[in-house]
Amino acid sequence: MSFRSRLRVFFTIIVVVPMAAVALVLFSLTEDSETGKADARLAGGLRTAFALYDEAGENARRQLDRVVNDRELQRALTAGRTAAIERRLRELVAANLGIRSAAFHDPGGELVARAGEAEAVSSATAAPTTRAGERLGTIAVSVTPAQEFATDVARFTGLEVRLFRDGRRLASTLERDDGSQGSGDVEIGGREFRGRFQEMRDAVGAPLRIGLYEDADEVRSSINEGRLAIGGILALFLVLALGSSVFVVRSLHGQVEQFLAAARRLGRGDFTIRVPATGRDEFAQLGREFNRMSEQLASQIDEVERKRRQLEETIRRVGEAFATGLDRQGVVDLAVRTSMEACSAQAGRAVALDANKMPSAAVGTDDARLAAALEAAERKAFTVDAEIGAELIATLEPSLDAPEMRRLSAVEVDGAHALALPLRAHLGAGSDVQYVGVVAIAREGEPFSDAEHDLFGYLAGQAVVSIENVDLHETVQRQAVTDELTSLYNVRHFHDWLDVEIERSKRFATPIGLVMLDIDDFKLVNDTYGHQQGDLVLMEVARAVRELSRDVDEPARYGGEEIAVVLPQTDIEGTALAAERVRTAIEALEIPRVDGKGVLRVTASCGVAALPGSAPAKDSLIAAADAALYRAKRAGKNRVERADAAAARS
Ligand code: GH3
Ligand code: MG
Ligand code: MG
Repeated sequence: MSFRSRLRVFFTIIVVVPMAAVALVLFSLTEDSETGKADARLAGGLRTAFALYDEAGENARRQLDRVVNDRELQRALTAGRTAAIERRLRELVAANLGIRSAAFHDPGGELVARAGEAEAVSSATAAPTTRAGERLGTIAVSVTPAQEFATDVARFTGLEVRLFRDGRRLASTLERDDGSQGSGDVEIGGREFRGRFQEMRDAVGAPLRIGLYEDADEVRSSINEGRLAIGGILALFLVLALGSSVFVVRSLHGQVEQFLAAARRLGRGDFTIRVPATGRDEFAQLGREFNRMSEQLASQIDEVERKRRQLEETIRRVGEAFATGLDRQGVVDLAVRTSMEACSAQAGRAVALDANKMPSAAVGTDDARLAAALEAAERKAFTVDAEIGAELIATLEPSLDAPEMRRLSAVEVDGAHALALPLRAHLGAGSDVQYVGVVAIAREGEPFSDAEHDLFGYLAGQAVVSIENVDLHETVQRQAVTDELTSLYNVRHFHDWLDVEIERSKRFATPIGLVMLDIDDFKLVNDTYGHQQGDLVLMEVARAVRELSRDVDEPARYGGEEIAVVLPQTDIEGTALAAERVRTAIEALEIPRVDGKGVLRVTASCGVAALPGSAPAKDSLIAAADAALYRAKRAGKNRVERADAAAARS
């Protein structure tokens, strides 16, 4: 059922039901009142009838004397002659136009003689006596025949009139009268009436009963008129009430429709709509709330959109960073910057425990308050066992009491908030997971939310994974160019490196020196002490060569027990000097024997050449150094031989 239909039903119920109840009550009141009014009219009619009756009695009394004082009648009465009495009464009635009936009753009340109308009412009486004073009887005179009286009363009262005496009907104004004598709501001669009886005392004879009747149709019609009026008024009210309820339903429905339309547009993402909110009623309040809500939604969506763009920017940056192939420093910088952006921080830094494993980075740490907060958070993150945080804590004024390591620590210093997280990583082949540093971010104002804690933790975790990946990558790269036994560069790297250096030396016109070194009688070591001892000799010799080389000098294992050293920007003289230093150092080595029986010593021979002095290109340079080495061997070993300049020219 729609809202509108429900409203309609509601209004119909609250309007129609009470209206019907009121109509019922009013209708029954109307009926009662109309019946009451009819009864009142009947009572009034009876009073009128009594007045007319009295007046008729009065008129009769005025005519009475003429009869009572009539000498002839007196004689007939005294004589007691009934026929004479009757005759004289007839004559008197005929002579006096006013007298309509005259009668004589003996002292016992029995009718003796009568003249005129048989049925007359409201008689006046006199009681004549003899001279001796003996009572003769009663003379009754009436000027009103029963039918005439009834007609008069009917005329004055507008009611139907019926007269009874001794159960006998004397007169009636009804056209059809079946003689029934009921009162109240009765039916007479097939018609319905409301009637009432009353007795009237007559001077002689039985009392007169007068009945007045009002036509029930008239009562009913006045009831109906009353009901019609009430019905009309109620109908008018009903129409007004229904009309106003239709108006109310329309306006309510209209307002609800407006809200509905607004809510739909809101649902489609249109936040510009406003619903009318004037006035003080609930709809206006609802409207104001609605408008406030859509404003808030709009601003929240703006905020979400802003955050989305920020996130997009961060993702893009991270993506670009990955695409460019990060080194350790790049990864740490990115971790600090991304954490700061993602958590809306103003400063951030990463501090390393070992600079070889993880570089440090700092952004926005010039601000003293932020720097203090960062430091407090870092220190809190590393109030761990002394070993883990020792180096870091040494730089941050140690506080070593707290026994437990906190995963993530949050602090507030002077209104600046900071988060710090220790970083644990697995760096270097074969090493365990260890603490490598701490990363922290800070901002002023609001503390970091739980969501920001989580995000920061996640990003720091990702940073650790990236550092591990970079480390692994570097390890693999290093392994690809390194000789496993001696940790010197391998021969492939030697060739690549020599290519690059020769290129550079040609561009800048600088010399390059090359040393070719071969351990003397190495086969004998293997044969005498075993390969293990041979390996150890190789490692020790390699270490000696590496230690004596400059950073730029790149020693490589050229093959078996031959080592090649490239010396950029070094001519033949310098190269020979370097080779001599190496040779002397090897000669001085005391290499422990694997069987534990003391030490053994070895020597090495070196051939040196230089570009461009000894040779013009790479292959000839190597060949020149090799030839020099050969000469050193032939000359008795444990010596340095230079490539002769003639070789370069030839
Ligand atoms: P020379 O003084 O003329 O150089 O004599 P030499 O015995 O050193 O002769 P040569 O250079 O021909 O012998 C090299 C030997 O080194 C042969 C090989 O068995 C041994 N060798 C090569 N690589 C390794 C290695 O990785 N470990 C060990 N233990 N021996 C190696
Ligand atoms: Mg050799
Ligand atoms: Mg050798």
